[in-house]
Amino acid sequence: MLYGALEAGGTKMVCAIGNENGEILEQISIPTTTPEETMPPIIAYFKDKEIKAIGVACFGPIDLNQKSETYGCILQTPKIPWRGFNMVKCISDALGIPVGFDTDVNGSLLGEVTWGCAKGLENAVYFTIGTGVGAGVMTNGRMLHGMLHPEAGHIMMAVRSDDRYQGKCPTHGTCLEGMAAGPAIEARWGAPAKELVDRPEVWDLESYYLAQAVMNCVMLLSPQIIIFGGGVMHQQQLFPLIRQKSLEMINGYIQTPLLKDIEHYIVPASLNDNQGIMGAIRLAMDAMKS
Ligand code: ADP
Ligand code: ZN
Repeated sequence: MLYGALEAGGTKMVCAIGNENGEILEQISIPTTTPEETMPPIIAYFKDKEIKAIGVACFGPIDLNQKSETYGCILQTPKIPWRGFNMVKCISDALGIPVGFDTDVNGSLLGEVTWGCAKGLENAVYFTIGTGVGAGVMTNGRMLHGMLHPEAGHIMMAVRSDDRYQGKCPTHGTCLEGMAAGPAIEARWGAPAKELVDRPEVWDLESYYLAQAVMNCVMLLSPQIIIFGGGVMHQQQLFPLIRQKSLEMINGYIQTPLLKDIEHYIVPASLNDNQGIMGAIRLAMDAMKS
């Protein structure tokens, strides 16, 4: 059976056709401009593909409450043309097939839970550290939505005493995204993150904030694995630093077999940056079933 998958991002829309093994058979990418311009080629791509359902992993904030009048809509995004746009209705009206819908980060986590490093686990967290910071959360085998959906890029950070940076988040200043996303690294150190490879102090400070994210997650959600993806995490040297600082912050307060095996507890995304689009295939499979 064939499924459609759409990874809807702020800069590009990745459209793919996949199967129930998570195999991507073909894919294209379309720049994200306005719904009027961006959606017709997406619909045209999927129209003649004989897919049975489609999954959409979408940038947010989005309305995931199926009982809400605005279910399927993009909410108060800074990307103005997309505010109030009903992604689910647009696709469902045009294609007439079941549409699965979740956040981009929940999509990435679903990809990892279904085919990647979190396979078989029921409690997992996926952080993306890129242009922004977001997190997907699975608890007891279900994606966490709740009131809206987690916006874990905006958890507050304790600023390290030697860090004078004011933070880049226009709303909170020194939240996780404000301190640790790619643009924050660039603003603090005066060069793009990937040009700072040889500056150990950059990654030491970065890992201090990411370890706080781990610490908060461990205490609040008790996940069985914490996965880090996104452009900034291509800096592999961050992983040992995050693991060490996380253990220092937890400070022995909880002791579990998973924490003892920290190298398999705090891990990089495992699906070659296909976790998002593969998660969208899984969303389509789930939409087909329900
Ligand atoms: P987006 O979040 O826009 O979907 P990415 O996950 O690629 O896209 O994140 C882009 C951010 O990650 C930019 O701020 C960029 O500076 C940073 N980045 C991309 N590649 C690297 C790298 N190899 N090392 C460090 N930072 C990187
Ligand atoms: Zn913020």
